[in-house]
Amino acid sequence: MTEMINKTSLAGMSREALHDVLMGVDVPEKQVRMRLNQLWRWVYYSGAIDFAQMTDMAKPLRATLEERHTLSRPDLSERQVSKDGTRKYLIKLGPGIEVEAVYIPGVGRSGALCISSQVGCTLNCTFCHTGTQALVRNLTAAEIVTQIMIARDDLDDWPKSPIDQESRAITNIVFMGMGEPLYNLENVAAAMAILSDGEGIAISRRRITVSTSGVVPKMHDLGAQTQAMLAISLHAVNDELRNELVPINKAYPLKDLLNACRTYPGASNARRITFEYVMLNGVNDSDAEARELVRLLKGIPAKINLIPFNPWPGAPYECSNWGRIEEFAQIVNKAGYASPIRTPRGRDIDAACGQLRSQSIKKRASERMKERLAAQSPS
Ligand code: SAH
Ligand code: SF4
Repeated sequence: MTEMINKTSLAGMSREALHDVLMGVDVPEKQVRMRLNQLWRWVYYSGAIDFAQMTDMAKPLRATLEERHTLSRPDLSERQVSKDGTRKYLIKLGPGIEVEAVYIPGVGRSGALCISSQVGCTLNCTFCHTGTQALVRNLTAAEIVTQIMIARDDLDDWPKSPIDQESRAITNIVFMGMGEPLYNLENVAAAMAILSDGEGIAISRRRITVSTSGVVPKMHDLGAQTQAMLAISLHAVNDELRNELVPINKAYPLKDLLNACRTYPGASNARRITFEYVMLNGVNDSDAEARELVRLLKGIPAKINLIPFNPWPGAPYECSNWGRIEEFAQIVNKAGYASPIRTPRGRDIDAACGQLRSQSIKKRASERMKERLAAQSPS
């Protein structure tokens, strides 16, 4: 019985950890490399959930592995599917510890998975609900990777043949769920190594975007270590307002943030930095601010993403009205930035990226949300 409880799952493990697993089950030294490649492919290419699937591995080896390990993923507390195909997963990592991942179809070649890097967030951006969550801890690399494995299970998205590898439902990954990824860079980088491995899940590093509120001292490391695409939660064009909306700005003001963008490794016109700008009614949505935004980003290979604010109960803001967002977008458009408004997705299941929060609060929120959205959504 105790042995069962102590079984560790191979899902989410690094190559090094799987190597140690094989060493621990007495695979002869000479065979370890071959077995490791086989095991890796079963776990990350095929998404095996049963050792019996591993037909090219000797039965006694499979049996020994099964005695000590599982292939299980963390449990789901909740799964919701929106009318527009958006899927939201609430993943249970321990008692009272939950994170969310959201699948958004129609992004990139096929669809994006928005994943979390922390439980909660230590930062307190005033418009974000994650920041109000009390409990905070970093996710392990395995906990980051299993978010993708869970979504691939649910979407039946493991390749069935080498040709099939090209047509995945999840082609892009964005770290825009809970948490500040640059406060957990080591595990984010380790997870990216697993996710981008060409013998496994094989999502190219160019299709993985890491969004930061502006942890300037870690930005260069992120680019150098992971080659991730960068997204910046800008939200304001002057320090006074940004200090209020995104308080980390007090430590790393706009000038430093934009300088770090200018020197971000690998940024180019083909690999632009995304600037996220949440539209808050009467707060940051004037024409003058749109023009200032364009001016600030001059010389940076940039994309602009205008995000309609997603309200939550007690939020001190409301979303700019649609006409205002369009006028703001037009100024940005004229400056050469194409289709900058991020269409709200999965609103019927309350699944907008970046405003993820704990389940109990969410249930109550969804009711009020429906009313507000009915009042504000574009016709
Ligand atoms: N901590 C990181 C990544 C997670 S937040 C960051 O801040 O960048 C992902 C995005 O969602 C950020 O741009 C964030 O500012 C935005 N966001 C947070 N709350 C939101 C809300 N209620 N409505 C719209 N966007 C929100
Ligand atoms: Fe944290 Fe990002 Fe939310 Fe700010 S916007 S509180 S950094 S998750």
